[in-house]
Amino acid sequence: MPKVIIHDAIDPAALELLNSRPGMQIVTLEREERARLRTEISDADSIILRYLPLDADDIRAARNMKVISRHGVGYDNVDMAAANECGIPVATIGDANSLTVAELALYLMLAAAKQGLGYDKSVRAGDWWQAREEARTIELYDKTLLVVGFGRIGKLVAPRCHAFGMNVTVCDPYIAQNLITDAGFTPAADFNEALGQADIITLHTPLNDETRHMIDARALERMKAGALLVNTSRGPVVDGQALSDALSAGHIYAAGIDVFEEEPPPTSNPLFAHDNTILTPHIGGLTRECFHRSAIRCAQNTLDAIDGKLDKAFVVNPEVL
Ligand code: NAD
Repeated sequence: MPKVIIHDAIDPAALELLNSRPGMQIVTLEREERARLRTEISDADSIILRYLPLDADDIRAARNMKVISRHGVGYDNVDMAAANECGIPVATIGDANSLTVAELALYLMLAAAKQGLGYDKSVRAGDWWQAREEARTIELYDKTLLVVGFGRIGKLVAPRCHAFGMNVTVCDPYIAQNLITDAGFTPAADFNEALGQADIITLHTPLNDETRHMIDARALERMKAGALLVNTSRGPVVDGQALSDALSAGHIYAAGIDVFEEEPPPTSNPLFAHDNTILTPHIGGLTRECFHRSAIRCAQNTLDAIDGKLDKAFVVNPEVL
């Protein structure tokens, strides 16, 4: 009887799909049930995984595992070395959440440019006239945008910003540069130089050794005075303390942040102190529509792996198949 662990809540549509298979055993675990996970994982065929870190010991204990099915596209919470060593494929949801994250990047960019949080607070506090007189928001029109990472999400952000009349440059050294020019955008040959030319920077890379703290104090210094930063990728891509310092110094105009170095962030997080930041709780993939799509994809990846026909296109370590 195939056994699937679902760790943390997902859309019920996935349960329906899994239950359509006769004899499926489904074990649902709450976020904090770490100890039970270690026992349950030993004979599970699949785990549908949201945020929980799956470490090497968890993975080595999973003797029957046919797929680690991520409810997302980032897989930095899975010990990939252990997954590879054990020959376990790690599947993601492909492009199921790309549009949703792209829309959130646009929201954060607009909310930061229009100083959404500060103005909302002013209205509620009865500060109407003073807030209006300051004229402190900016336009997206004619600004130079730097999209860092031209994968599934970056590719959707770029044309949406182009539609606002922005001059879109793209930095992604890992793809053929004609993919950028063919899409109508300007490739940035040098990341540091491009940072210094952009008015607005939006991050869409994975988290890895190269991108961890890619935006640190030096990178922030290189940015134009008055630049705006959006991060919907992974928290550790940005040094949060350095960003806070740059906001305090007035060098960075505003920031829109969905992801944090520590999640959930402690209330002492320095970014909380700034009214010119707009913060969201890692909701890049959490529209109602996307939550549904993601769950269905995770369940389908699980069924396909059990049937021995997991689609390689969703697997981040296809060499183990
Ligand atoms: P993707 O793999 O399709 O694209 C990532 C792109 O980044 C690739 O084209 C790659 O070549 C490029 N890249 C890698 N290193 C780079 C570097 N040093 N400089 C510039 N470009 C680099 O991934 P995607 O689906 O577009 O997702 C991007 C990231 O967004 C994910 O890895 C994930 O961490 C994050 N994400 C966040 C949320 C959220 O809820 N906020 C949801 C989904 C994805």
